[in-house]
Amino acid sequence: MATWKQQRATYGWRRTAVEYLRRQPRIWRRRAVNRWYDLRAVLAGYCNNQPYPAIPGEGGGYAHWRCALKRGHEGMHRPRNYVWNAGGHTDNLPIPHGQPGVDQPWERSMTMTRRQDRQRDRWMNRRYAEMRASRD
Ligand SMILES: [Zn+2]
Repeated sequence: MATWKQQRATYGWRRTAVEYLRRQPRIWRRRAVNRWYDLRAVLAGYCNNQPYPAIPGEGGGYAHWRCALKRGHEGMHRPRNYVWNAGGHTDNLPIPHGQPGVDQPWERSMTMTRRQDRQRDRWMNRRYAEMRASRD
């Protein structure tokens, strides 16, 4: 999605405000559920590390991935067939056949946290400004 700044520049204040008010309740509900599940996972003793970077090209993974190993585990973080290191660089490393899967009981949504959203917006606005400047 484009940032709100770009949305406003393209469609004007009125349409941007309508769109914002339409989306926000859903986004905040999903964020609240994600935080609630994160809290439950931490209390249940999961590592719950998250690889997702707000800025594209740094690390990898998806916003709903959480480490499903117990807190204080050794080696890479892992949910299901993916692993990542402390820097968030992810890789596919399937669990050997016959071994039990590694997963948390709570499914997160892909909604970014507020901080990630702000970081992404700042990055995108900067990138678009650079692109506009190079086009002129
Ligand atoms: Zn972990």
